[in-house]
Amino acid sequence: MKYNEVVQKLKDIVYRWENIQEACNLIILAAVLWDSSDIHIEPLSSYVRLRYRLDWELTEILEYQNFLHSWIVARFKIMSDLKIDESRIPQDWRLSTTIEWKSLDLRVSTLPTVHGEKIVMRIVDKSKKIPKLHELGIEWKNWELIKKAISLPNGIILTSWPTGSWKSTTLYSALTDLNKIWVNIMTLEDPVENQIDGINQSQVKPDIWYTFAYGLRTALRQDPDIIMVWEMRDKETVDIAIEASLTWHLVLSTIHTNNASETITRMINMWVQPFLIPASVNIIIAQRLVRKLCPYCKKQVKISELWKTVVEDIKNAIQITDKKELMSRVWNELKNPIFYEPVWCEHCNWLWYKWRVWLYEVLEITPGVKEMILAWRSAYNINNQAVKDWMISLEQDWIMKALNWLTSLEEVYRVAKSQKW
Ligand SMILES: [Zn+2]
Repeated sequence: MKYNEVVQKLKDIVYRWENIQEACNLIILAAVLWDSSDIHIEPLSSYVRLRYRLDWELTEILEYQNFLHSWIVARFKIMSDLKIDESRIPQDWRLSTTIEWKSLDLRVSTLPTVHGEKIVMRIVDKSKKIPKLHELGIEWKNWELIKKAISLPNGIILTSWPTGSWKSTTLYSALTDLNKIWVNIMTLEDPVENQIDGINQSQVKPDIWYTFAYGLRTALRQDPDIIMVWEMRDKETVDIAIEASLTWHLVLSTIHTNNASETITRMINMWVQPFLIPASVNIIIAQRLVRKLCPYCKKQVKISELWKTVVEDIKNAIQITDKKELMSRVWNELKNPIFYEPVWCEHCNWLWYKWRVWLYEVLEITPGVKEMILAWRSAYNINNQAVKDWMISLEQDWIMKALNWLTSLEEVYRVAKSQKW
């Protein structure tokens, strides 16, 4: 069934107040077909609304009357093994199910609100394939840096991630590339989102003291070659990761920052000695997720309103691409640039954008950057030095993606504004 048909069927059922069981299945099915990450069912004062999250935006799918809600809540609670008669306190559970041959993991959470219980379900589609690194659309220079860093026997590869940038994708893709018969790969994750055969994935449990730091120490006794630590939140974890990299291990991890250079100052703020950073860190990757234009319906636009504000950035961006074809196209069209904007069609479920494309900024520890780190300079200074040393900044990467007609200028501008680059 197609998404539109499922939603229509769901609306019919809800408006006729029949077959709650099927309605609940359709709520999940429609969300999966729509590629959404979360389902929100929230009782308001006069109705209940169903919303889906695609990337970072919630979209309302339908409304239904309040009196139906208790049945729907009860059905989801039965499916997720939650207590039906308990509606005063929050509950959460994991639910594994198969819908239309897709095996899904749902993290179901309920919360009592003033108008009734709100349900949020996070969808993890286990049948979704992890993209290979080369499928992530990484530009040539960034690609070389990442390829080089993951081929080294030791060092740290960090990714920084603001919420919503799907931080795990790049690391998982790197791990699938690294997954070879002759290496021992271990991961410490919270939660384990995708399972990869051949990799020893472990779920940390901080409530029983199985923390990232403790896990990392233990992992080192398991003769690893490559370790992925989900997140470096505290000094202890960072210290052990540095120690591991200096004793001949490749360590992959993430730090919650806005860009690559901030990651360095964050480490220094965690009291990591600056000299240890260039000694252990190979590269720092910052990433953003933007929506890709639907190839079936995207429409050419000659001049974008944003054009005037970004023309300078574009001039900077094309200086660093070695794609001759793109260069000559850009130079020819600089006076009369062509971009694309979204339309809508049945292929993209009338959503204009359907697929996603990642923007990257890869900071290499060049001699100049190293000097900045040792001198305790600010993230701003480190960033400027890195750009001087030919780092492709997030801004430049997005303009290149727009010039390659993968996304629209407006889309990236919107993300840039909402996430403070
Ligand atoms: Zn379309």
